[in-house]
Amino acid sequence: MKISSLLSGDKLSLSFEVFPPKTDTAMESVKFATEEIAKLSPLFMSVTYGAGGGTSKYTLDIAKNIKKQYGVPTVAHLTCVSSNRETVREKIEEMRIAGIENVMALRGDITPELEQKEKSEWIFQHAIDLIHEIKESGADFCIGAACYPEVHPESDNQTEDIKYLKEKVDAGCSFLTTQMFFDNNLLYNFLYKIREAGITVPVIPGVMPITNANQVERAIKLSGSFMPQRFKNLVDKFGHSPDAMKQAGIVYATDQIIDLFANGIKNVHVYSMNKPDVAEKILNNLSDILG
Ligand code: FAD
Repeated sequence: MKISSLLSGDKLSLSFEVFPPKTDTAMESVKFATEEIAKLSPLFMSVTYGAGGGTSKYTLDIAKNIKKQYGVPTVAHLTCVSSNRETVREKIEEMRIAGIENVMALRGDITPELEQKEKSEWIFQHAIDLIHEIKESGADFCIGAACYPEVHPESDNQTEDIKYLKEKVDAGCSFLTTQMFFDNNLLYNFLYKIREAGITVPVIPGVMPITNANQVERAIKLSGSFMPQRFKNLVDKFGHSPDAMKQAGIVYATDQIIDLFANGIKNVHVYSMNKPDVAEKILNNLSDILG
């Protein structure tokens, strides 16, 4: 099912993100974790592509398996900046043949190898180039793209970031998923600005439950997210105790989600990564709210 149709309903819901294994030997445990999350019947699950060191070759297998075995709609991520045109075309065709309906079109992060080259030499410079390639392939995917409530780290300013975001949407995106954030006001402010800029597609806020203190540094490095004092206090107090930190992180994320729902958001994407217990606890915390 296409994400654009799923998002048209009024029901409140959660979706979850999973990532492929870094090594072939880890495939079984990742498969198990993703299946456990699928059993929770989220609105959809998205499967990253080569992010955080994960290999890209399993994205399609995991997305296909979740959809086939558990009937959970999936979004397969695809990045372009490190690929040549032939590889990207092959990946698009593989997705089409596999019956994938939703693709998250991303640029991907700049590798040290790419940094050695002039930007003009990169075959795909931005996510919009991938969106054009998908559109030109004729495949009937529902295309999603990434957006950044706190501005993409490479952007000079938010006005410029939103201008390029609008171009991405106009090129054929049906929905946007946000980078993680820990202060909902940043999201509300961003939504106001993009709506004013004429971006009307659904925006799915991304919330990451921080369940151990080490994750904090990694999350800030990856996303450049602002950490509210309330969140820092929680890490200071409970960071040394794994169980307490996990519980506090889950409650903080739950609280963020409740506030988003209370302010009119209908679907929240949870970066629970490959942790079924975290996904389940958040769902349980919201059982009456989600109905
Ligand atoms: P773009 O949209 O190309 O934007 C990158 C920068 O270029 C921004 O500063 C933007 O303002 C600017 N820009 C955009 N278009 C233009 C233009 N036409 N001209 C000039 N400047 C422009 N990474 C992975 O490797 N795998 C994943 O699966 C993955 N999933 C993600 C999912 C989400 C929801 C998010 C938020 C990020 C994800 N990422 C993933 C990380 C992502 O690849 C990085 O954030 C990357 O740095 C930017 O990707 P993008 O698609 O947003 O790029």
